[in-house]
Amino acid sequence: MKVRVRFAPSPTGPLHMGGVRTALYNYLFAKKHGGDFLLRIEDTDQKRFVPGAQEYIIDSLKWCGIEPNEGVGYGGDKGPYIQSERMSMYQPYIDQLIESGHAYLAFDTSDDLERMRDQAKEMGLPNWQYNGVTRSSMKNSLSLSKEEVEKRLANGDPYTVRIKMPRNTDIKLEDEIRGWVTVNTNNLDDKVLVKETGMPTYHMANIIDDHLMEITHVIRGEEWLPSAPLHVFLYDCFGWDRPRFAHLPLILRPDGKGKLSKRDGDKLGFPVFPLDWMSAEGEKYSGYKEGGYFSKAFVNMLALLGWNPGDNKEIMSLEEMVELFTLDRVGKSGARFDPDKTKWFNQYYLRSTSNEDLADLLRPLLDEAHQGLETSYLAKICELMKERATFIQDILVEGDYFFNAVTVYDDKTVSKKWKEETPLIMAELLAELKTIKDFTTKNIETVFSAYLAKKEYGFGHVGPGFRLLVTGKGMGPSMFDICATLGKDTVISRMENGIDAINALKAANQ
Ligand code: GLU
Repeated sequence: MKVRVRFAPSPTGPLHMGGVRTALYNYLFAKKHGGDFLLRIEDTDQKRFVPGAQEYIIDSLKWCGIEPNEGVGYGGDKGPYIQSERMSMYQPYIDQLIESGHAYLAFDTSDDLERMRDQAKEMGLPNWQYNGVTRSSMKNSLSLSKEEVEKRLANGDPYTVRIKMPRNTDIKLEDEIRGWVTVNTNNLDDKVLVKETGMPTYHMANIIDDHLMEITHVIRGEEWLPSAPLHVFLYDCFGWDRPRFAHLPLILRPDGKGKLSKRDGDKLGFPVFPLDWMSAEGEKYSGYKEGGYFSKAFVNMLALLGWNPGDNKEIMSLEEMVELFTLDRVGKSGARFDPDKTKWFNQYYLRSTSNEDLADLLRPLLDEAHQGLETSYLAKICELMKERATFIQDILVEGDYFFNAVTVYDDKTVSKKWKEETPLIMAELLAELKTIKDFTTKNIETVFSAYLAKKEYGFGHVGPGFRLLVTGKGMGPSMFDICATLGKDTVISRMENGIDAINALKAANQ
């Protein structure tokens, strides 16, 4: 049988990185088995529908490179793939459940239900449930006479449809990650399958769609594990083959204390969403993309949040992950999110990106005045700076002297390294540099070394002042490379103007 898996988010807001991980594992599993990966939008809870969320989900999956091959926006012959467009398809199945005695109509209003809950609470039973014990005292098609039910229906009284959970029956299901799970039906309630509005609930629509879309494996977050017994019970009621289930572990906060929530990110200083999201209330949630992360780094990090390939391998392309992915290597316990590790992945991907590609990524970050810079110049800067950068933006910040005149000199370096004799040494070095015709890394280095040898100076005696003049900083890549990249005119003028500027600074600080 062809493997078919689905990612079935509800468009209730932006897609959390936990959701992206669920999509990723589904994608990896499908590709590994030569199967299909579907995107289905579960929007039966219209009250929680958030405009723009569906588009956000699709854009996020695209950015991550984990695109479905069937579903919303991708087509396929099992559509429509948006649940609110499938309403007419659900009714025959609901009727079937009622006719076979597995479901019944319940006329209780929300006030009735509240009253029952309050009464139970007063009697010391805080968790009142609509179930095999209580249903006989409620207003439903099992407790009311046939005539009464017909009268209510003719009258147009609103009703819900509930599952008739049997008493004291063990429901067993085998989870690919957790092994056998057994739940006794005495712990389950008669869940609503169809709301008063006629809209099926998540449970009903979800299993009918999984069946009709021929889903073979349901891979989803752990928060759905409590619903799984109801789901397998529904499959059994219909006499349908159950899909296999795999419930993924939670993603925990970096301190390990609880689930990583939507609000944690901006509070703790890292994104929890793939892309930026602006809520209707004007609240901004930051995303990995806009935060300067490579999607490859984000996806690589996510893959290892709950799964490992069996050795210590960490850097993996999507293709390698597909090759290595198995559900039996997904852990049961919560996976702690590590923002520093995520940065480490980004650093790795930044370093392994070609200088030309980095230049293309850098250009949109440059202001108008710098748009005329040649790509080869930007690529050279990227080559020099990438070992020191975690994000593309770091190249701009750390390498600002490649773009702008030096106006600020690092205080610490000025006070420690700009000695009394430094101005004279710099003037001598400047004179030597002026003699270079072809201002290449090699020629600059040769002249610089010859000067040190002639004067019997150590590098530390000359290097820091030289760097300070040309870059304003105390640290950075090779000065010879920097100078060759900046060009002779810029280096000479920075040295000429800088000596006096630093002298003045030094004097002012004394
Ligand atoms: N609509 C559910 C969600 O938003 C899907 C759960 C499932 O995959 O069955 O997560």
